[in-house]
Amino acid sequence: MPDWSDFRKEALYIDGAWIENSADHVEVHDPATGELIGVVPKAGRQEAETAVEAAKRAFPAFAALPAAERAKMLHRLADEIEAALEPLAELLTREQGKPMTEALGEVRMSAAYIRWFAEEARRVYGETIPSPWPNRRIMTTKEPVGVVAAITPWNFPSSMLARKIGPALAAGCTLVAKPASQTPYSALAWGILCERAGIPSGVVNIVTGDAGEIGGLFTSHRDVAKITFTGSTAVGKMLLRQAADTVKRCSMELGGNAPFIVFDDADLGAAVEGAIAAKFRNAGQTCVCSNRIYVQSAIYDRFVAQFSEAVSRLKLGPGTAAQTDVGPLIDARALSKVEEFLADAEAKGARIVCGGNRQQGLFFQPTVVAEATEQMNVARDEIFGPVAPVFRFESEAEVVEAANATEYGLACYFYTRDLGRSFRVSEALKFGLIGINEGIITTEVAPFGGVKQSGFGKEGSRYGIEDYLDTKYVCLGGL
Ligand code: ADP
Repeated sequence: MPDWSDFRKEALYIDGAWIENSADHVEVHDPATGELIGVVPKAGRQEAETAVEAAKRAFPAFAALPAAERAKMLHRLADEIEAALEPLAELLTREQGKPMTEALGEVRMSAAYIRWFAEEARRVYGETIPSPWPNRRIMTTKEPVGVVAAITPWNFPSSMLARKIGPALAAGCTLVAKPASQTPYSALAWGILCERAGIPSGVVNIVTGDAGEIGGLFTSHRDVAKITFTGSTAVGKMLLRQAADTVKRCSMELGGNAPFIVFDDADLGAAVEGAIAAKFRNAGQTCVCSNRIYVQSAIYDRFVAQFSEAVSRLKLGPGTAAQTDVGPLIDARALSKVEEFLADAEAKGARIVCGGNRQQGLFFQPTVVAEATEQMNVARDEIFGPVAPVFRFESEAEVVEAANATEYGLACYFYTRDLGRSFRVSEALKFGLIGINEGIITTEVAPFGGVKQSGFGKEGSRYGIEDYLDTKYVCLGGL
């Protein structure tokens, strides 16, 4: 039986080889137990540059392959993931902390993204455009942008790479990746999977280590054509500034501040269920997690009672335990941020209805906070933890204004049974993703991406490959 430790690589993956001889190392700890899982190389500029050079060398031959060949490779990659769902999920849970059911879901999603882009690889079409000249013809072709540098976060260490490896390879690009240092193993596992799938050397390269140095090299290197980043808005802005000097293509999936609105005509049971899913998945550590729950005043007390009753039943524990609903937070900094949010909310008059306390290690109780107001930090900043503030509102116009009063624009949810309101509100909300009567909406077939300071670019769907392609205009004259 394959075991999770079969996928625990502790070396850089560059040009199809595993490179272990880095002088310095980064320790990786299990957030549930604090135990040391192992150490991975702490690479810097030098290794990042070697990886970019490998990707550059691999690019021409890979880009020249017929799309059907690259599609076959991506299907094989999806097969390899699907053949190792359990060990990959266990590896993910050990370094990241999420419950095994969620880790399995994430690894399945990784395979789904790769398979989707295997299919899309064969549907990259150019155009012929009616010409304004009688003796000239106008065509467009799509070409891969070149070497792509991907920087990924710790909250979805497998699927955030799938969303980048899939479209990059489908388009004919080669890629260098730098995962978050909290969760490098799920990223390095992609090296093993690529080897097994027969992806040519140099097409995918993975470098762990110093974020500033590696990011700095990626953003300044002339041979990197594109930066694709998922992470915080602060780091995204910095990478955009750095990438400006060489005018790179960029895709940015940044922070969110998702409203979750419950109108008084909603199915209350469905809204409670949706709020639990949208808030407590991955212990609240996703960029699409509901940050602010707005409930119309006529049903406010009933919602708070039902919601907190359901939240108090959530089981807190290590992700490896079968009954766990909510795992630990990723690190001590995340935990203290959650405590600061709660202290601020309480000082400004909020009421903790359930939870509210840290437990041993990095665990924090699933928490419901009633009587939240716009003056509290929870209204403005991304909580990224298992704390659900519930705000009261009176009218549709008021809640739409409050929901939009943020610099972020990633996900947003609302519950109503009024058809007219579904259209009015979804059109008025300035967000890239809208869930009506659903709390979890991510799928590989739909475009994922934010507006405003949540970033730009789409991942998944038929749009997801566009960011990896350049459109070339060819004019044929002298007919
Ligand atoms: P979080 O605060 O959730 O950890 P970050 O934006 O800091 O989110 O992390 C997302 C990714 O960005 C990680 O891979 C991290 O290592 C990387 N990162 C952090 N700082 C930098 C930097 N200065 N340059 C490049 N990448 C960075």
